[in-house]
Amino acid sequence: LTQLFRPLDMLGMVYRTIRQGLIDMAEMFRLMDTDVEVSDKPGAPALIIRQPSVAFDNVMFGYDKDRTILNGLSFEVPAGRNYAVVGPSGAGKSTLARLLFRFYDPQSGRILIDGQDIKEVTQASVRAAIGIVPQDSVLFNDTIGYNIGYGREDATQAEIEMAARGAALMGLIDRLPKRFDTEVGERGLKLSGGEKQRVAIARTLVKNPPILVLDEATSALDTRTEQDILTTLHRVAEHRTSISIAHRLSTISDADRILVLNEGRLEESGTHGELLRYGGLYAEMWSRQAAEAEEMGEAAE
Ligand code: ATP
Repeated sequence: LTQLFRPLDMLGMVYRTIRQGLIDMAEMFRLMDTDVEVSDKPGAPALIIRQPSVAFDNVMFGYDKDRTILNGLSFEVPAGRNYAVVGPSGAGKSTLARLLFRFYDPQSGRILIDGQDIKEVTQASVRAAIGIVPQDSVLFNDTIGYNIGYGREDATQAEIEMAARGAALMGLIDRLPKRFDTEVGERGLKLSGGEKQRVAIARTLVKNPPILVLDEATSALDTRTEQDILTTLHRVAEHRTSISIAHRLSTISDADRILVLNEGRLEESGTHGELLRYGGLYAEMWSRQAAEAEEMGEAAE
């Protein structure tokens, strides 16, 4: 009888994998909130990265014609620096990340990675250069090892273990009965929000991209877990070029530079201390958030 059921079981597994794959894709597009809009120019070369700098040069963009979201946005993140992007809700922070990943092309202006216009090179090479750690990661119904290695098809077990170590996942994995072969997801071990995010970090480490886009977690992580994850993320971002999209300012105050977006423009930029002294939009957002944190009984920094 087991013989009879095995193929059915297999089919079920294939079905679940496909379904989960579709869910993942749908989820990814939902997160990135996009459709496929751009295509490669005929004969476009691959991006070649020596110094992974990122620059927006007078970028204008709107999702539809009658409303521009980015209004001539310009900034540069030098190679190896960790920058943060903050600003009021709707300022265009996620839009900036979508354009960098080339889900859309600007209406005018240019986006450059290491001096190359991302419109002139292949989309695949741009996406291979950028790792995104989203706020909410989706896991495949498969082993934890598979979920980590998913960042790169040819990842070896040794690379997967290194990534797990880098994302501070070994404590968890060592406690699991089947370690890397433990099933996770819907039908397996349920991981907490923080653990899922660590898997996403490990996935990014396997991919090993020169540029990182970190979409700050606003989801339900307790403060202790969040601190741990931030520490891990900072370590991962070291020696890479990173752009952290932040909602809470307390998590990015040590960024090399903070870009303050307002209505699709760069309104201010500087270090945390410089921006506080400047007394503009950032300083205002900072005192508002500090007051809110105090109200919630948290110790504001
Ligand atoms: P938040 O801090 O709330 O996440 P944000 O700064 O990341 O905001 P974006 O998500 O970049 O803001 O959105 C900027 C503007 O673009 C918003 O007014 C939003 O309504 C609009 N927008 C975002 N995605 C789309 C889309 N796919 N189609 C049309 N308009 C969109």
